[in-house]
Order: sequence, then C-alpha cells, then structure tokens
Amino acid sequence: MLIDGHGRAVNYLRISVTERCNFRCQYCMPEKPFSWVPKENLLSFEELFLFVKVAIDGGVTKIRITGGEPLLREDLDSFIKMINDYKSGLDLALTTNAYLLPQAAQKLKDAGLKRLNISLDSLKEDVSAKIAGKNVLKEVLAGIDKALEVGLKVKINMVPLKGVNDDEILDVLDYCKGKDIKVRFIEYMENAHADQALKGMHGKEILEKVKERYTIKALGREGASPSFNYVLDDGTEFGLIDPHKHDFCENCNRIRLTAEGNLIPCLYFDEALSIAEAVKKGDVEGAAQVLAEVLKDKPKENRWSEDEFEDRELSKRAFYETGG
Ligand code: SAM
Ligand code: SF4
Repeated sequence: MLIDGHGRAVNYLRISVTERCNFRCQYCMPEKPFSWVPKENLLSFEELFLFVKVAIDGGVTKIRITGGEPLLREDLDSFIKMINDYKSGLDLALTTNAYLLPQAAQKLKDAGLKRLNISLDSLKEDVSAKIAGKNVLKEVLAGIDKALEVGLKVKINMVPLKGVNDDEILDVLDYCKGKDIKVRFIEYMENAHADQALKGMHGKEILEKVKERYTIKALGREGASPSFNYVLDDGTEFGLIDPHKHDFCENCNRIRLTAEGNLIPCLYFDEALSIAEAVKKGDVEGAAQVLAEVLKDKPKENRWSEDEFEDRELSKRAFYETGG
C-alpha cells in the first residue's frame, strides 16, 4: 500500500496524457497557451506505462486518464488496453469533453475502459459556445449518448459560473435525471490561467438552486471522493465538489502525472518531481523512488479555503496540465 507523509493511503493515479485541448473553456484555458510542451517532451505510452506498473504494484487500484483533452492523443485505446491487460479489475476511467466521443466510445469500451466523466456546463448552444470558445453542444450530447449506448458508465461534471450558466443547474440536473446518470457540480477553482472576470458559485448557492425545485437529503462523502453526495425524493443522486472546504483533503488518496512526466502531489501547488529521466531509461527503481519522495511531501491540504480567500496567491497550476 502507498502511504503519504500524513498517513493517508494513496490508491488513485490520474494521468494527463496531453495538455492540448480542442476547447478553450473560460475557467481552464481561455486562450491558447503561449507555448505547448514540445511533442518530443511528451512521454510515450510505453514510458507512461512503466510508471503505471510501478504505481499498480505499489497499490494503486484506480486510474483516470485526463488532459487537456485526452481523446486528442492518438491511439489512446491502446494505452488503456495496456493497463487493463496488466491488471484486471482496476477502476479504469477517463475524463473528457466528449467532443470526439461519438467516434471513440466503442474503441475505449473494447480496450477495457469502465467509466467516463464528461464535462457538460450548459444545455444551451450559445452558452456552451461561450464557455468552450466554439460550438460544441451537438457533438457533446451525441458523445454522451454514444457512451451510454456502448455500455460505459457516465457521470457529468458541471462548473456553475455566476451570470453564465447558473440558471441551468436545474436543467442539467433534470437532463441527467432523465438519462439516469449522476451529475457533480464543481465549485469553480480560481487559478492564474482562467478568465479572471469569472465568478464561481459557492456550494451553498448551488444547493439553494437545487432546493428551488427539489427536497434534498445529504448522504455524505463517497469514500475518499471529493464529491459530497445528495439525494432527491425520487432517489436521484447528485454530487457537490467543494474544494473551498478542507474536509476532503483529510482523505485525499490521489496523485497526478502530467504528459511530460511531472508527478504532482496536490492540484493546488506548483511542487512536482519528474519521473521522465527514470522512465526513459527503463529505470523501475528510479521511478519508484520519485514516487516515494512525492508521497512523503504530499501537502496536508489545498489553499482554496475560504479563510485565506482574500490574501492568498492564485494557484498557478493549469488545470489543462494537471487534468483537474
Ligand atoms: N478536457 C477534459 C474535460 O474537460 O472534461 C478533461 C480535462 S479537464 C481539466 C477536467 C475537469 O476539470 C473538467 O471537469 C473541468 O470542468 C474541470 N475544471 C477545469 N478547470 C476548472 C476550474 N477552474 N475549476 C473547476 N473545475 C475545473
Ligand atoms: Fe479543455 Fe477540459 Fe480545460 Fe475545457 S476543461 S479547456 S475541455 S481541458
């Protein structure tokens, strides 16, 4: 089992396979970055897989592929198959904006993918275009339907933003209810790369919106998940991810790997150590050592907390680099 410096068991690895994206979400990558990581600096799937094996052998049981937009990386299904063939029974998931999912869903399912988290911030064409920087709604909705059709489990992620899509919280909840899928509302996490004019909604405000139509009951956190779950009277469940609270840091079970091999202990902070040199040499021991160091120094908690809200520095971590 992998244990960090604060005694927390770490069994969840998130891998960002590319920082590139076909969307320009205002809260993540409103502009094309000044420069992309050069292609030659990206780790190959074989190099990433060497680290994945170290992590699985150490006790990782849950792996999520993310990005940027992971479906932009060619032959992603072959990487998923490598992982699935190495150890069956893993919780193998992907986070995607779903734009390319109509073509990709069946291949991903055949490769062994179990679950998908899909970002859906609006059901209105103009609003989703405003958030993503281009017309995306038709493809995204087709992607969700295709994923369900091929038998992948789907969850929806929505980031409610004041004056942008805050009037659609109930519509997205009802859309998910109609398809029997769970939505998780994510509090906007301020960061230096986002459009600085954005104002996120606080978890309490999101719940107030839901209560305008439904009676809700709190269920609690699902294991180490950052999502706090609620249930409507008819049994429909939804989640709230509220990073401005510290209580999920107590049980944080995750580490993040970027496409160029930086191993990141916490989404908020800049700290990371690189596994690139080790995996390029095929040095399993070296990769395991980097992992041990990152676990030892994993921060106790993020700094999105409300108390420090006024005077803290904005997180410089780009979500498109870490994968969220
Ligand atoms: N491109 C994929 C997607 O959008 O689903 C995967 C990568 S994206 C960085 C992963 C998740 O991070 C998405 O659900 C997105 O909504 C979320 N995210 C990005 N920036 C965020 C921010 N500033 N605050 C809260 N969530 C954010
Ligand atoms: Fe791309 Fe996802 Fe970031 Fe939107 S949230 S810009 S889809 S990486």
